[in-house]
Amino acid sequence: MSNADYDLIIIGGGPAGLTAGLYAARARLKVILIEKVVPGGQIVVTDWIENYPGFPDGISGAELTQRMTEQAQRFGLEIEGDEVVSVDFSGSIKKLTLSDRTISSYAVIIASGASPKRIGVPGEDAYYGRGLSTCATCDGPFYKDKIVAAIGGGNTAIQESLFLTKFAKKVYIIHRRDKLRAESILQERAFASDKIEFVWDSVVTGFTGAKTLEKAVVRNVRTGETQELPVNGCFIWIGIAPNADFLGESIRRDPFGFIIADERMQTSVPGVFVAGDVRNTPLRQIATAIGDAAIAAASAEHHIQHLKG
Ligand code: NAP
Repeated sequence: MSNADYDLIIIGGGPAGLTAGLYAARARLKVILIEKVVPGGQIVVTDWIENYPGFPDGISGAELTQRMTEQAQRFGLEIEGDEVVSVDFSGSIKKLTLSDRTISSYAVIIASGASPKRIGVPGEDAYYGRGLSTCATCDGPFYKDKIVAAIGGGNTAIQESLFLTKFAKKVYIIHRRDKLRAESILQERAFASDKIEFVWDSVVTGFTGAKTLEKAVVRNVRTGETQELPVNGCFIWIGIAPNADFLGESIRRDPFGFIIADERMQTSVPGVFVAGDVRNTPLRQIATAIGDAAIAAASAEHHIQHLKG
């Protein structure tokens, strides 16, 4: 067997990728982590994290990312900013095509995460960045004493709406049902906020405005009634989709595109492991992502040792 460039390539630099990198570097594997944007993944835009153990007062997503990155790099993790465009998992040496070259390894951990979904209604593309956003940390401060709306009823929608109340004078939460999916403690806080008003049983069917967003067109799914809600900004938090297009048909995925793995984080391709939000998993948390990653790194190490004899 010819030599690969690396023992292990990790795709993605969120909590899962950085944790896999920490474990792999400590196992003295020759490892590189490829990150398309900046390390941190979705938590970089999370204002405050309260449910990651060890930080009783909470910690910002940016600081947790910085700490995780420093820790992995201290043990020798190499991090490169580039995009994985396509993969060839057909042989025992895996090949990954980046923007300007191909690199190879004996094992791969996919930790490419997930991204906010769009709703797909008229005006959504046109007003994106001109009133429409998926990032409260980035865009919330623009709405000081303004009126904003949030779409969705999950943890992200409720947690980020609470963050928006620091700036906006009013936050409508538009949800398609009359019950929230978010965890109870977040629900309690949202119900207690005098700045949050729920628009239940409702979906947004379009966005209108002149240069920037001015109105969300809202339809009540029970009565069929439509209203135009005047808003300065609107945040879309209706769930996430896997960042996995670069994988093509190379690997088994569920109907939503999330990667299927066994309890060792082994995917349908031997030597290719997965960790974090891109995995088909019942819970997407930092705590679960880093648990996946520790297992994936140990499994990858085992696979590499076996391959190298
Ligand atoms: P999510 O839990 O899947 O919730 C998506 C919400 O959007 C649901 O309320 C859903 O309504 C609604 N929705 C979905 N499609 C829609 C559509 N086409 N039109 C209108 N509404 C739609 O997604 P998420 O809140 O982004 O969270 C993603 C993952 O990250 C979850 O596992 C979550 O627990 C985790 N997370 C955790 C924390 C935390 O622990 N504090 C914070 C953020 C995220 P239905 O309820 O009717 O399905």
